[in-house]
Amino acid sequence: MPVAASAASPDDLRDGQSAPFHGLVLVSTPIGNLGDISARARIALNGCDLILCEDTRRTGRLLASMDIHTRTEPLHEHNEDARTGSVLAKLRNNQTIALVSDAGTPLVSDPGYRLVRAVIEAGLTVTAIPGPNAAVTALILSGLPPLPFMFLGFPPAKQAARRAAFSSLRAAERAGLSTTFIWYEAPHRLLETLEDLQLVFGDRAAAVARELTKYYETVQRGNVSRLTEVFTREPARGEITVLIGPPETDDPEDLDGRLRAALATQTVKDAAALVSTATGLPRKIVYARALQIHSEG
Ligand code: SAM
Repeated sequence: MPVAASAASPDDLRDGQSAPFHGLVLVSTPIGNLGDISARARIALNGCDLILCEDTRRTGRLLASMDIHTRTEPLHEHNEDARTGSVLAKLRNNQTIALVSDAGTPLVSDPGYRLVRAVIEAGLTVTAIPGPNAAVTALILSGLPPLPFMFLGFPPAKQAARRAAFSSLRAAERAGLSTTFIWYEAPHRLLETLEDLQLVFGDRAAAVARELTKYYETVQRGNVSRLTEVFTREPARGEITVLIGPPETDDPEDLDGRLRAALATQTVKDAAALVSTATGLPRKIVYARALQIHSEG
């Protein structure tokens, strides 16, 4: 059943009203503040035949807050492929199906991509109701250059994989990439991630956005080392987005900063090996400099 926002005339459309929704509707929901649900999101969630959601209990609370009683079914990374066939059949049957995630914009570090591909390949309609997204909200509050930006989802949880992922971005920077990077991160991994950011990218401008749109929203801005100090003093809690700015210059201080960060926790040999991999500089040169810094105390 298509969902009508109102009897839409061309004038309504110019005024920002909506044509009827049909097909699969990707609906963004709040990232912490219920006030951020949009008027179009309410209409679609209220009028569609079925809402696919990551967690039916969590979405149930959002729907209850709006007195919406539409049927919900789970769609998460473990059942997305298995559910696709029946969702396509319902869409072919002219049902209107909304897809939401636990919070924010579906598909962005959340399920839905494989379903959307299948809907597109089947020639069926997919549309979106845009709304909250933590990455873009953090970006515009960070004070870092907003363009270009690269959003990378969550960094790998294991240190070796995380360092390797950061190092390949750093290699891309050495080949000319210059962009603000954005990651989601769990609060208990923030300090290790900051440490690896400093090791690989140096002590550059960064920001940590916490609890965006909520009562305790805070954005800490400064170099990575300052943010490390802040979150060592007071461990981070809540939902977190981490950003670093593009490289400013490629001066030798950068090498020293990375070596100092690595030497704080590693032997000279290991620190030199890490920084050499991270920067692509010859290991002999990096080792010689590491020895010097180490001997200076
Ligand atoms: N799809 C969502 C979006 O559009 O932002 C993101 C889903 S992802 C599974 C959840 C992660 O986003 C959290 O672990 C956190 O890193 C980040 N995040 C979500 N809400 C946030 C908030 N209010 N403030 C800061 N970061 C947030």
